[in-house]
Amino acid sequence: MGFHYAFLCPACGYRNHRCCGGTEYGRSVALSTVHCVTCAALFDVPSCRYGYTIESVVANCPMDADHVVAEWIQPGPCPKCGAALLQQGISAVWD
Ligand SMILES: [Zn+2]
Ligand SMILES: [Zn+2]
Repeated sequence: MGFHYAFLCPACGYRNHRCCGGTEYGRSVALSTVHCVTCAALFDVPSCRYGYTIESVVANCPMDADHVVAEWIQPGPCPKCGAALLQQGISAVWD
């Protein structure tokens, strides 16, 4: 079972209501949060799929695979302005 959390930046107003804030494990896929420097945003991307085998997936920005992404784990900085993001609780259970 994986959770999504809601994050808010008190400095610039950046919001992400569906963000794992790290790696969360669902039934058949793990989602990891990445910070795309180019998009100045956080994205949840599949980092591992499992079934009969476990397959690691290279994390890429969903907008463009050429973007530079870095793993992001809460608590962490705002992808837009670098201030500390506030976690506002679990927003969804996604699997
Ligand atoms: Zn910010
Ligand atoms: Zn990007």
